[in-house]
Amino acid sequence: MIISVIGTGYVGLVSGTCFSEMGNSVTCVDKNKEKIRQLNQGIVPIYEPGLEGLIQRNQKNKNLFFSTSIKDSVKHSDIIFIAVGTPTLDNGAADLIQVREVAKEIGRSITKKTLIVNKSTAPVGTCNLIQGIISKELIQRNLSLAFEVISNPEFLKEGDAISDFMKPDRIVIGVDSEDAFQLMKELYSPFFRTRDRFIRMDVKSAEMTKYAANAMLATKISFINEIANICELVGADVNQVRVGVGSDSRIGYNFIYPGIGYGGTCFPKDISALIKLSLKHNYEPKLLASVDEVNEGQKKLFLKKLLSRFGEDLSNFTFGIWGLSFKPETDDMRKSPSIFIVNQLCKRGAKVRVYDPKSMKNAKEKYFSKLDLFYGENKYQIIENIDALILLTEWKEFRSPDFSELKSKMRLPIIFDGRNQYNAFDLNKKDFEYYQIGKNKYG
Ligand code: NAD
Repeated sequence: MIISVIGTGYVGLVSGTCFSEMGNSVTCVDKNKEKIRQLNQGIVPIYEPGLEGLIQRNQKNKNLFFSTSIKDSVKHSDIIFIAVGTPTLDNGAADLIQVREVAKEIGRSITKKTLIVNKSTAPVGTCNLIQGIISKELIQRNLSLAFEVISNPEFLKEGDAISDFMKPDRIVIGVDSEDAFQLMKELYSPFFRTRDRFIRMDVKSAEMTKYAANAMLATKISFINEIANICELVGADVNQVRVGVGSDSRIGYNFIYPGIGYGGTCFPKDISALIKLSLKHNYEPKLLASVDEVNEGQKKLFLKKLLSRFGEDLSNFTFGIWGLSFKPETDDMRKSPSIFIVNQLCKRGAKVRVYDPKSMKNAKEKYFSKLDLFYGENKYQIIENIDALILLTEWKEFRSPDFSELKSKMRLPIIFDGRNQYNAFDLNKKDFEYYQIGKNKYG
């Protein structure tokens, strides 16, 4: 099939590349000229394990192309995917400006029967909106073309995106017509060699499914964080509680790890958009609002813990940070709790030394360009003479560090662990002062 994917971010680039790997002819389009220039040279602008090799192979095989022109690419396409950003407006709702722009350009460019598939996470009603924008453009062109807009929400996880896309748990297709459903089945069938995992539903339900899935996952995280905060106060250990709770098969272990809260592009913005959508329909979503509130509070509680150890004025202290990305295996720092923590430490006069395996460029250029930080080349370089090590992202390389080396280089053997990576008993035996989430230091 001939496919255009509009938007070459984490979702568009991964989806387009994986479709090309299955033998389709795919053009990934982006309005960011620098991104496309790099991709045309085989340089991948984001870090996603396994992606670079796949892109280079499919470029070489002439299955995968990059372009800045929607017009040129969609003319010959059977299917057009929309995978642009849907960030948060100041009022909390989803900003659909990128989706609208793309819909308009599609309406101005298509020349034959085309299936338009929305992969961007967007409020219920967005497919209708896209349909309306395209129809209007076609009327202005005096053209009557058969086209259909359907919803195919994406569930990939950054850091594991290739495997998620290649071996999906399910493909949700929100569609009204049988033809469109069959075309999507044909496209996705190579991804299911063993069994069919298509879930067909109406368009609005598919749009809602994506929000509901993210809201459920975020709820699990905020739930365990709330339990963790209570554990700390009453002298229980959330690490033990988590094991006891997760062993119930109705609950399970996934997504009940306590920490400094979720970040990233999806959960915060999607919860906010869903809240806004509900309010627009005169429903007050109390649970969703609390999920967000607990999450926001989590990084503040972590900071409070640190300040009660060192005081409000941090000008005599140096801190080392391990991990800046919002989760491991990605360079994405959007809404990462590290942004709040690093800024708060600097604001109080602390010297801050940071290290992350993949986010250093993003940190320097996009997030901390105004701060005077020391950027280490490896995890041990930043621990020299620090008063405390602060772990913010659970990258594998932080899981089992050489604690003797840490102790010999740090000014004070203190660790604040925002991801509960270490064993408190072992660290106390090694004479570390160890703080984690949901467990009293002496508990
Ligand atoms: P992103 O911000 O990384 O990428 C979006 C891309 O779209 C950018 O490269 C931007 O330049 C491009 N773009 C914007 N307007 C354009 C236009 N008019 N023409 C061409 N290109 C244009 O976004 P992302 O993380 O890939 O997410 C895309 C969508 O998928 C969002 O709605 C998001 O919520 C959803 N989603 C994201 C993830 C994830 O893990 N990142 C997972 C599932 C769903």
